[in-house]
Amino acid sequence: MHVPLIAGNWKMNTTVSEAIELVSGMRRGLDQIAHVDKVICPPFISLAAVRELIKGSSIKLGAQNIYFEEKGAYTGEISPPMLADLCEFVIIGHSERRQYFDETGEIVNKKIQAALRVGLKPILCIGERLEENEAGRTEEVVTEQLGSSLAGIDYLNGLIIAYEPIWAIGTGKAATGEQANETIGLIRRNIAKLYGKRIAQDVRILYGGSVTAANATEFINQPEIDGALVGGASLKANQFLSIVKQAAEIRQLLSG
Ligand code: PEP
Repeated sequence: MHVPLIAGNWKMNTTVSEAIELVSGMRRGLDQIAHVDKVICPPFISLAAVRELIKGSSIKLGAQNIYFEEKGAYTGEISPPMLADLCEFVIIGHSERRQYFDETGEIVNKKIQAALRVGLKPILCIGERLEENEAGRTEEVVTEQLGSSLAGIDYLNGLIIAYEPIWAIGTGKAATGEQANETIGLIRRNIAKLYGKRIAQDVRILYGGSVTAANATEFINQPEIDGALVGGASLKANQFLSIVKQAAEIRQLLSG
């Protein structure tokens, strides 16, 4: 059985002082919850300050993006070694980056390779658009995204997958637990085809898309779902804490 993972994607929200305030409001509560991996992903500019604040706690840190080159004339970009020095996780291929910054499967693949090279754990996001879902193309789309993102990658080394149907992100219209479970099961079967059954069982696959304190249990309770990638609700300390608590309670119930 996996340790569930709850990751908070703060997106382009919070100044450094707001980030400090937000972490200060959840640090103690989060640290008291065992048997759940708790990851917060603030904007780049707050990583160093947040890292100091969570030092010695069980809270882990992630970035929201990465560039694939190691160094050089890439104004404004952040390299893998820069991040490896600061955090453990990095979100890669979020649908907002695919949509607004033209990130293709090829770019996502390069970013994953670059992150793995320096020991960062990618949180790879995949998911279909509303029209693809309505046309019954979910399986085809996530299978293609998975294949292109992981092309040429022999070892997953802690990589996490987040299934995020685009129509559910930031819309308040979450998938149902059953829908998410079904697609995540399909993703796991694809991982088994690519890497074998054992790795497919080991890889943690999260659901993301309008997860809140009110619906978290519905997702985390599903047999294929190993946690959640939380956007909007991770900006409210009490909501995020409640989601992590629900994951801990389910884990305790399942392990008897
Ligand atoms: C996300 O940003 O990955 C996300 C799932 O956002 P929200 O929870 O706000 O839908």
